[in-house]
Amino acid sequence: MAPEKQAGPAGAALPLPPMKWDAWGDPDLAKELSADIKALLAAALGVTGDAAPGPAADEVVLRPSALTEADLDALAAIVGEAHLSAADADRLPRAGGKSTPDLLRRRSREPQDAPDAVVLPGSEDEIAALLALCAERRIAVVPFGGGTSVVGGLDPERGAFAAVVSLDLRRFDRLLDVDAVSGEAVLGAGLTGPAAEELLAEHGLELGHYPQSFRFATIGGFAATRSSGQDSAGHGRFDEMVRGLRVVTPAGVLDLGRAPASAAGPDLRELFLGSEGTLGVITAVRVRVHPVPAVKAYEAWSFPDFATGAAALRTVEQQETGPTVIRLSDEAETMVNLAMTEKIGGEPAVTGCLGVTVFEGTADQVADRHRSTRAALLAAGATSLGEAPARAWEHGRFNAPYLRDSLLAAGALCETLETATDWRRLADLRLAVTTALTTALPGALVLCHISHVYPTGASLYFTVVAALGEDPLPRWGAAKRAACDAIVATGGTITHHHAVGADHRPWMTDEIGDLGVRILRAVKAELDPAGILNPGKLIP
Ligand SMILES: Cc1cc2nc3c(=O)[nH]c(=O)nc-3n(C[C@H](O)[C@H](O)[C@H](O)COP(=O)(O)OP(=O)(O)OC[C@H]3O[C@@H](n4cnc5c(N)ncnc54)[C@H](O)[C@@H]3O)c2cc1C
Repeated sequence: MAPEKQAGPAGAALPLPPMKWDAWGDPDLAKELSADIKALLAAALGVTGDAAPGPAADEVVLRPSALTEADLDALAAIVGEAHLSAADADRLPRAGGKSTPDLLRRRSREPQDAPDAVVLPGSEDEIAALLALCAERRIAVVPFGGGTSVVGGLDPERGAFAAVVSLDLRRFDRLLDVDAVSGEAVLGAGLTGPAAEELLAEHGLELGHYPQSFRFATIGGFAATRSSGQDSAGHGRFDEMVRGLRVVTPAGVLDLGRAPASAAGPDLRELFLGSEGTLGVITAVRVRVHPVPAVKAYEAWSFPDFATGAAALRTVEQQETGPTVIRLSDEAETMVNLAMTEKIGGEPAVTGCLGVTVFEGTADQVADRHRSTRAALLAAGATSLGEAPARAWEHGRFNAPYLRDSLLAAGALCETLETATDWRRLADLRLAVTTALTTALPGALVLCHISHVYPTGASLYFTVVAALGEDPLPRWGAAKRAACDAIVATGGTITHHHAVGADHRPWMTDEIGDLGVRILRAVKAELDPAGILNPGKLIP
């Protein structure tokens, strides 16, 4: 199960999200940077010293709750006193997501914004009643899953309303049905990744969705953001795993997805995949599952350069040789990972660009997939590094976000962004984004990898490390805007898997056009006529 430590402020009335309120994840896993790494940061990026520590939780000043006693009584009448709180200790951990700007905002000693109350409904009827009450009393509602949004999807925006509540889905935490014959399971929206996998494993089944935020993000959040996991080459994106959805909207309840495939008009599930809490509250998701793999095999690779590596990944994907994981780091990311990660015994030195492959299935399937992928990669210019670096990658794959916290504490800004395009334009897109970032943040280190491949293209994931300096928020804001403009100008998508939220909303018209925006607005007007659901996100 996900760690259930009390990682937030003292004095909370409700169960807290199992993450630190001002940093990533489990407090026990935080690591200090070594003196060597700090020296490297000083030499390479001009990082001049540790950042000033932020306030302790009980020193944070929150904007006072705007809800009246009558509002709170009415909310409590629906969910019960035990599942409502307007205490600062409950509001603060739901004040936003976990992007670097979110974490920097949490360090402010100025009054911070937060939802005016937190509600924990326990049934769809309660959600429907909450939405009706909030529409009547003109209160905005932000659905809250695991709290891992990196695009401002959880910002406590009030829109046209005086107040906003955080609607935490954590009580929707059951495995509701398993159909091993069809290979399907119905999961409560509030289940975290590990909790869902643990429940499925009791039936010998696996979902196989492993985003880097796996330990804390939820099933509802994965659907609401069109998440993509690190095993996407084998198991697909989360939206490809979804067979059905239950959604409570202010206009009624929808139960979508009836057969493995259907010709009954446009697929309405698509409206809610990626809806980011703006159209309804997802309460349960029916997903495709598969037997827990019997065998796994690992092999890492070195490519002389990124272009050779990208062409090799394309060949593997287009030949459908079947790895579960296939990823490629550029030269800079390969070098930095080598400097930062724990070594595994006997690990050979990695030069050029590191590639990682993992294979899963029955013994015969794994042997076959490994053999044909190997042949394709070797023919495309890869050199085998054996299995140790691939196992090392898997061993540490959920730990990188802790490094971001250590970097921030040491005075270095670290943030990520991502996009995707077709193979033909991938190199141009990478160059355009890198140039935009290094122009806006001179001296910054920009790392890039490919971790999601398709027959026609791939995603690009960038990590930026720079000195924190004065005013990191506006400096990062300018760099991010430049990168987004470059993405749009080069024909990439504004997001491959992080979603739109508040941060990418200014580029949505570029992405889908005026008519596309009008369609989304019309759907929202039908489902959420008062406009209470997650104002200021996704839809321009
Ligand atoms: C360190 C780090 C690594 C990450 N790695 C990945 C990655 O590898 N792949 C990836 O795809 N993403 C990644 N993300 C982004 C994030 O984890 C995903 O967007 C994730 O799917 C969000 O799930 P959540 O449960 O935390 O949702 P939240 O952050 O709680 O919410 C995200 C959005 O969905 C809405 N929402 C949440 N639950 C519901 C619901 N039940 N009904 C309706 N709306 C809802 C919220 O209102 C919000 O707009 C990462 C984030 C971090 C911080």
